[in-house]
Amino acid sequence: MLYSTAPTAQIRALEDYKSGISARLQILSARIARAAVEAGRDPAEVRLLAVSKTWPVESLRDAAAGGQTAFGESYVQEAVGKIEALSDLGLEWHFIGPLQGNKTRPVANAFSWVHSVDRIRIAQRLSEQRDVYLPPLQVCIQVNVSGEESKSGVSPEALPELARAVAALPRLALRGLMTIPEPSPDVTVQRARFASLRHLRDALNNGGMSLDTLSMGMSDDLEAAIAEGATIVRVGTAIFGSRA
Ligand SMILES: *Cc1c(COP(=O)(O)O)cnc(C)c1O
Repeated sequence: MLYSTAPTAQIRALEDYKSGISARLQILSARIARAAVEAGRDPAEVRLLAVSKTWPVESLRDAAAGGQTAFGESYVQEAVGKIEALSDLGLEWHFIGPLQGNKTRPVANAFSWVHSVDRIRIAQRLSEQRDVYLPPLQVCIQVNVSGEESKSGVSPEALPELARAVAALPRLALRGLMTIPEPSPDVTVQRARFASLRHLRDALNNGGMSLDTLSMGMSDDLEAAIAEGATIVRVGTAIFGSRA
């Protein structure tokens, strides 16, 4: 026994939370598998990225203990500290947040993937700054598929030129496309936006590229994303709970 006296309510709540993370990971993997099977896809084609932004390293350790290996972070400073603190676990780190030109160096070297490339200048910096002894940085181009309201992401019209330029950079490996559509409660609308990302990927592949990744779908819309071909779903709330 860890305790000489009965656990306090606080410790019990903490233990519930820990086992909660493993339980929620299992529920998620069942959700992903069901969505894949309903879409006639192999569940193994869909990877779960655990979006751990704002959560402390203890929560990430709990998720890792539950079998999770790939983690997504959005804030450079916070991420770098967590990556260092968890270096014993051999986790795979994906940067999914907005990228600023003056903060690319840690992103270029502490992460395996960047999902949020949306302009050539940033891609060039990541390529220049990626250490030569590391494998190429895996990248996705973020596309704005829901029009004027959202700010991040390249427009569908500007995508082909950006994709060609990114694909030519020596220290990057262009893997695919990512999107964060405006939230909609309407599954038809969700699917239409995810389908448009898939069509953009298919058009690039018909033009000679070989992009294998569609990073799309979050806690509330991952079924729609998987139905439209998602290969990575980025899930935070459904694993760790609501962010403060
Ligand atoms: C926070 C975040 C997510 C996770 O969203 P949830 O709704 O918590 O699952 C996914 N993708 C990106 C880019 C994010 O910033």
